[in-house]
Amino acid sequence: MPISTGRLTLKASRFTLMTSYVGNTNRFLSAFFVLLFCAPLSFAQTDHSHGSGRAIEFPDVNGFLSLTCDFHMHSVFSDGDVWPNTRVQEAQKDNLDCIAVTEHLEYLPHKADVPVPDRNRAFDIAVNTAKNSDLIVIRGSEITRALPFGHANTIFITDANPLVTEEATDAYAEAQRQGGFTFMNHPNWTAQRKDGIARLEEMNITLIEKGQIQGIEVVNDITYSDEALEIALKHNLAIIGTSDIHSLIDWQFDVPGGGHRPVTIVFAKERTQEGIKEALLARRTVAWYQNTLIGRLEHVMPLVEASLSITSAAYQGDTSILDIRIENKSESDFTLNNVSDFRFHDRADLVVIPAHHSIQVLVKTGPRVPEIELSFEVLNVVTAPGQHPNFKMKATI
Ligand SMILES: [Zn+2]
Ligand SMILES: [Zn+2]
Repeated sequence: MPISTGRLTLKASRFTLMTSYVGNTNRFLSAFFVLLFCAPLSFAQTDHSHGSGRAIEFPDVNGFLSLTCDFHMHSVFSDGDVWPNTRVQEAQKDNLDCIAVTEHLEYLPHKADVPVPDRNRAFDIAVNTAKNSDLIVIRGSEITRALPFGHANTIFITDANPLVTEEATDAYAEAQRQGGFTFMNHPNWTAQRKDGIARLEEMNITLIEKGQIQGIEVVNDITYSDEALEIALKHNLAIIGTSDIHSLIDWQFDVPGGGHRPVTIVFAKERTQEGIKEALLARRTVAWYQNTLIGRLEHVMPLVEASLSITSAAYQGDTSILDIRIENKSESDFTLNNVSDFRFHDRADLVVIPAHHSIQVLVKTGPRVPEIELSFEVLNVVTAPGQHPNFKMKATI
């Protein structure tokens, strides 16, 4: 997580920055984003603007709000270890925008101690806990079945009780009838897939075709699935990342040690339940897990562009060593691999920019040049299995 650094004052000359990206296969068209800065420029290097020091904050992009959401968690009302208010308090510490407490419908191991005649009870408690805060709590449940169904979460439902059905297909149909958004959970779960390979059964495909499965967890808890990402891309499902927390967020994801819970970043037109649902239906999501951003190129690259920028570029003395600063405005550390025509004076080809910080990079341009283009493979962004997009930044000195 972010490391605190001292203040920085820049006295840059007037310069123009241009950034662009292309897919690393170069099949994607470059798009160019021009940023103009006026000099002299003076600013404090990012102090943590986080209220709590752990708040998960990503910049908004292209007119959309970047909302951080965790759509999969449990309390004692199914097989979790805590009361639902703890789920709310954890989310507030992480400054999340939205959560869903999604109890298992069919698996209630605590029911001798915590009977659950009303399957909405965890939601009701969570909503009440969150009522004086900005946190959006949405109603959801986990449809918990053996293969060929596997587990699925449905959120934005209006009443969890009718989802307790004999037939799994009836639960999916009822979720759809209530306007639920339903996504496959942990399709790589080794309890159901010994090899950890996510696959679709014929039944899953039927549910997708009926519009009764609309997303898939590419990230669940402490696992990631390339195969789930392939399924999402092939079947146009929303890419989802969730904590599926049962114990405590801080323990499971080592937040005190710098870890973070997985979230789904939802690019919404408005910060409401309706806005989040519209974005999910439009598949405008990116999963964030272990400082890796997983999403479609068209969704994840605007986030990269909003996160990274060159904030200054000037030659050192009478040398032709170009001193640039790259700022990271996001919550994710970025790891870039230099694929430019230029080599660096202060490092090899890897550039790591911690969250909410800027770093100096010294570029050997050979003769002095009026402008340069730096090209990076963004290693902590995944757009398909093994695919890391390229990101270009231009600076006019
Ligand atoms: Zn599950
Ligand atoms: Zn679960």
